[in-house]
Amino acid sequence: MSEAGKFPVEKSDDDWRRELTPEQFEVLRKHGTERAGSSPLNYEKRDGTYRCAGCGQVLFEARTKYESGSGWPSFWEPVAGAVETRVDRSLFMRRIEVHCSRCGGHLGHVFDDGPRPTGQRYCMNGLALQFEPKAPSGS
Ligand code: FE
Repeated sequence: MSEAGKFPVEKSDDDWRRELTPEQFEVLRKHGTERAGSSPLNYEKRDGTYRCAGCGQVLFEARTKYESGSGWPSFWEPVAGAVETRVDRSLFMRRIEVHCSRCGGHLGHVFDDGPRPTGQRYCMNGLALQFEPKAPSGS
């Protein structure tokens, strides 16, 4: 939604363009989709957290990531309250769009063909995420 005041963090397109790479801007602010298999995060297996590349909010924990075979980083559950969804009827499909609850940045879509325990597949653009490895224990 672009209704003013809907999200805690709202910025003009010009401000977002200054803060994001052109590729991130296309995904987060223009509902773009990165090429399948293009994200280094497809291969990320470490423990840690995935934050919104737009505003930094923690969106997913690494323990909920799994290999879906789709070519996009996939998770079976978001952090509670971190994402919101809405129906997306673009491209002649009916899909459920997923965006950050803090900045409204577009993240990807959610499908109901995921693994247990939720049965959901949060199919995310790696460009919309920033991985933060868990600090080594003892630090
Ligand atoms: Fe965000």
